Amino acid sequence: MQVPIYMDYNATTPVDPRVLESMLPYFCEEFGNPASRTYAFGWRAEEAVERARKQIAQLINAGPKDIVFTSGATESNNLALKGVAEMYRDQGTHIITQVTEHKAVLDVVKWLERHGFEVTYLPVDSDGLVDPDDVRQALRETTILISIMAANNEIGTLQPIEEIGRIAKEQGVFFHCDAAQALGKVPVDVEAWGADLVSLSAHKIYGPKGVGALYLRLPDSRVALDPLIHGGGHEFGLRSGTLNVPGIVGFGKACEVAASEMAEEAERLRALRDRLEGGICSHIEEVTRNGHPERRLPGTSNLSFAYVEGESLMMGLSGIALSSGSACTSAGHETSHVLTALGLSDELIKASLRFGIGRFNTEQEVDYVIERVRETVERLRALSPIFDGSRALSNVPSTQ
Ligand SMILES: *Cc1c(COP(=O)(O)O)cnc(C)c1O
Repeated sequence: MQVPIYMDYNATTPVDPRVLESMLPYFCEEFGNPASRTYAFGWRAEEAVERARKQIAQLINAGPKDIVFTSGATESNNLALKGVAEMYRDQGTHIITQVTEHKAVLDVVKWLERHGFEVTYLPVDSDGLVDPDDVRQALRETTILISIMAANNEIGTLQPIEEIGRIAKEQGVFFHCDAAQALGKVPVDVEAWGADLVSLSAHKIYGPKGVGALYLRLPDSRVALDPLIHGGGHEFGLRSGTLNVPGIVGFGKACEVAASEMAEEAERLRALRDRLEGGICSHIEEVTRNGHPERRLPGTSNLSFAYVEGESLMMGLSGIALSSGSACTSAGHETSHVLTALGLSDELIKASLRFGIGRFNTEQEVDYVIERVRETVERLRALSPIFDGSRALSNVPSTQ
């Protein structure tokens, strides 16, 4: 076993060797521009791109013509939300989303608010779930778009997407879903979901960084979205610019692997995740689990450790790459808006850890992490004057 251990697969994943292998020919040999239509270099690149389009479409039960390549889920979210808003602003200026969306949705709708749109941010319950009835009640005459994520990146909670899709369809409102975190981990079925737009990313499913896709099934979709990037008319005019052929090939391969291994992998990851939670919670008191107990991603665990100081906890766990509820982002020091939405105090948020278990984690690594977490939390609590006192006062049973 090698230290440091990577257990932050929700942030990004290593490229699967099979994916890398599929990409390699497209750097030096098959380097053609798929938009070059007059010779074989171009044709072969185009063939590779079209194969990837099929592989991706297959994983989400879509048709290859419904896939537009982008630089990642952030761009896909921008294209979906700004593209629909701009195209349909004559029909209405109201958008519905919810508070635990990824910043790549929240920051886009905030931008839209500054440009004449009205946004409803639905709350979530203590498990992170949106209530479909709230969606229904938030609808207005002027609502054009609902944007709700499939799986939350911090707590793994899976939203009731099919119900929300049904509501959107009943009302004739477009439904966008950020599925960056769901893809390859739980079934993504755009038909069953009734989704019009779905954002995808390669680097969360063992593909390369900097490539993603937007699924779209808007009415007459080839012209129904205002593009963000103009110039050359690539990708049906929806996203101009020479395609990232090796990246796209890798994304396709990553989807193919996911399609054949997802069920088995999910079971393995769920078992590792349960082992991790069992190993930690059976030995440490006052640990709470964030996110829905069942309706969540198989490899995700988000735990809060009461009576522990967040920074010391992270320092004690150096050697394990994981995320805390308080991230030092490029934009500054932030506490998780997701854990805030669940009602956690700032202090508890700082003492929260997100474990993202993935394809290359082993049981041995999980056991090592359990050991380190136990040892660190116990050491910090032994130093803490408030821990014993509050434990004596509190009747709150430790959670799971
Ligand atoms: C990672 C992630 C994104 C951003 O995807 P990029 O491809 O890195 O731009 C968006 N939404 C969710 C839910 C994510 O987990």
